[in-house]
This record gives sequence, C-alpha cells and structure tokens, in this order.
Amino acid sequence: MTPLYAQDKFKTARENMVKHQIMDQGITHSATLDAMRTVPRHLFVPEDLRPHAYRDMPLPIGHEQTISQPYMVAYMTQSIEPKKGMKVLEIGTGSGYQAAVLAEIVDSVFSVEIVEPLGKQAAALFKKLGYTNVEVRIGDGFAGWPEHGPFDGIVVTAAAEEIPPPLIDQLNENGLLIIPLGKPGSVQTLVMVKKEKGKLIRKNLLPVRFVPFVRE
Ligand code: SAH
Repeated sequence: MTPLYAQDKFKTARENMVKHQIMDQGITHSATLDAMRTVPRHLFVPEDLRPHAYRDMPLPIGHEQTISQPYMVAYMTQSIEPKKGMKVLEIGTGSGYQAAVLAEIVDSVFSVEIVEPLGKQAAALFKKLGYTNVEVRIGDGFAGWPEHGPFDGIVVTAAAEEIPPPLIDQLNENGLLIIPLGKPGSVQTLVMVKKEKGKLIRKNLLPVRFVPFVRE
C-alpha cells in the first residue's frame, strides 16, 4: 500500500519507536518493521494523547479499552509470519492499529469488534487512510467470521480463558493463531497455535496483560 501519511511530523518519532522499542527488543521481521514505520499510530489514539502515541506503553482509547503497546503489536504481527497473499482475521479491532499494521503486509484483513462505536470509528479511519483491504464487523468475535474463512493467520487481541473453537475451525492448514489466554485482571500467557495436518501444536510465548475477551 502507498502510505498516505508516511510523511508527517511524527515520522522521526516512529523511526525512534521502531529502533529503540522494537528492533532493540529483538523484532527482526522486515515487513513488520516497515509496517510499523509506516502506519501513523498517532491517528489511532484520542487527539489529546497524540503526543504520547509513540511511547513504549499501551494507551486508553475509550470504552475501557486500550491500544496495545507498540512492541506487543510488532511481536504479534511477526509471530503469525505475515506476507503477501495471506488473509488474516483479527478479533478485537479496538483502535484499528493492529489491523492497519497487518494490512500493510498481507492481502486482506477481517477484523471483528464487539464495542460498536470503536468498530465504527476504526472503519472510518481505514477509509480515510486508504486501507481498502480491511473489513470490520461489529459483533462477538467468539464466532470468528466464517463467511470469509479459513484464514492463514488469526490474531486475538483480548484475553480469553480458552481458545474459541470456531477460531480453530477457521484456521487454515499451516495457519498460525496467536491469543492471550488467562483470567482477566491477572497475568496471562500469549499462546501460539499452529494447525499442522489437522492437529494443533501449541507454544507458550510470554506473559502479557490484555483487556478481557467479553461475550455478547
Ligand atoms: N487490536 C486493538 C487492541 C484493542 S484492545 C488495537 O490495535 O487497538 C481489545 C479489543 O477487543 C477491545 O476493543 C475490545 O472491545 C475487543 N473485544 C473484547 N472482546 C471481544 C469479542 N468477544 N469480540 C470482538 N471484540 C472483542
């Protein structure tokens, strides 16, 4: 995609974010680094928080939700090994930032958000920024988005106690799914699942803290 906002007053802040928060912490996947250099994170946070958009922390986006820390977005993106030709599902659109980062790399992103105003706001922002390869659905992401599946990668950005079975069903052979698992309010584990010959291979990645996966 041709970035509409690649040249802006936050360009240096974005470069510094990629260098010091992301590369220095071990992220090496070049398409992920390029996407993080391109997406205007400041436009995905509330206006009064824009000066803080490139800091090494999650930020509130209203409705008791947060935009994840830049490193976590880069880590999750790199983990599903995104590349051209892929179709990815995200559960928890939130600000839309993670979806935009993925949309820079893969062919299409389908993102489900349960809080209607957040989903609508993200969809409007994708339109404004020219992300024509991201679609948002308002609803409970537990069901995934069967009409568009199966997916080559699935990224869940809210913490569930277990992996919603429909998401497993909608994961392609050799597809990767990443999800924080654990109780809300406590430390959770970021878990990666690969579907290989119909079987699931599960790996625990790192301790994390995400907002809870809620049900309708
Ligand atoms: N990926 C987002 C992070 C948002 S925080 C970003 O880049 O900004 C997680 C989001 O998951 C919240 O917006 C929350 O409303 C949403 N969420 C929680 N449970 C959900 C569910 N069952 N289905 C869809 N979205 C859900």
